[in-house]
Amino acid sequence: MTVNTTVTVRVPAKVNLQLAVGPGREDGFHDLVNVFHAVSLFDEVTVKDAYPRRQSPLVTLTAGGELGSHLARVPLDESNLAARAALSVARESGRGRPVDIHLEKNIPVAGGMAGGSADAAAALVACDRLWGCGLSRERLLESAARLGSDVAFGLVGATAVGTGRGEILEPMSSPGRYRWVFALSKRGLSTADVFGEYDRLRPDAPAPRADPALEKALAEGDAVALGRSLSNDLEPAALSLLPELERTLAAGRGAGALGALVSGSGPTCAFLVGGDEDSSVVAEREAAVVAALRGTGLCEQVVAADGDVPGATVL
Ligand code: ATP
Repeated sequence: MTVNTTVTVRVPAKVNLQLAVGPGREDGFHDLVNVFHAVSLFDEVTVKDAYPRRQSPLVTLTAGGELGSHLARVPLDESNLAARAALSVARESGRGRPVDIHLEKNIPVAGGMAGGSADAAAALVACDRLWGCGLSRERLLESAARLGSDVAFGLVGATAVGTGRGEILEPMSSPGRYRWVFALSKRGLSTADVFGEYDRLRPDAPAPRADPALEKALAEGDAVALGRSLSNDLEPAALSLLPELERTLAAGRGAGALGALVSGSGPTCAFLVGGDEDSSVVAEREAAVVAALRGTGLCEQVVAADGDVPGATVL
């Protein structure tokens, strides 16, 4: 029998196509309608049996990647969501043994693209495989939901709508392929601060509702209609905390993006630059948007990606 001593899992970032946010609940969460769309900006999570062998700790962590200043924001202790995921598989299965986890990061950190949640989803899959636990899909999804609202989507990928606090997921019909440009900010925004600002700005927030125009655009693979339907209730709060994002959004829109929004709690800004149309038209639009964003001098990096893509995948 072959025994795995290393497992690598690739996991995508998400952009929210719609993020409708209800009023704060008694438990501190908000009811959401959260349309997740997985894009081809990937983290790779490698889980290896610790060598030389040790009894503890169960997990050590390292991180690398080309993310500039973002990398310094990745915690390398047990608060890291990938470490918490490994501990949860060990608890659930009773089969945990010491591992070294390496995170190769391409997903912006504290950028509203669920990088930490993606790493947690990848670590769940990798530890389950390395330790031969054979946890069912349902159990992995339950562990994911316990770890955080966005973790289950990292397992599922593609395009899906999350309700409740975002963790109750339903796949959505989305046959189209879309091209995106992302402007990574030099600063991070804390998700908790953005929700706090949202509560201050919108004490009267109504219950969140799905947007039928967005569903139709996705089902028809209509990039122009999708661009018009993108929406994020958290955007005013993110702009209030980081006003320079207005200039980033305006630069991409002015250069011809089909739609633009702050991704999740920000500060990453997402620009839809095309769908299943003539690829030279999309490439030209992409180049114009990338140049305009770089020209602002506000972005740490500007990167392009495709959506949608599958969730956590063993390599
Ligand atoms: P979301 O979109 O889910 O709100 P985000 O994309 O804004 O999240 P993350 O990159 O997930 O933000 O990071 C948020 C915080 O979580 C970071 O500032 C960091 O302290 C912590 N964190 C924990 N685990 C990780 C991880 N594996 N990668 C990055 N950050 C992590």
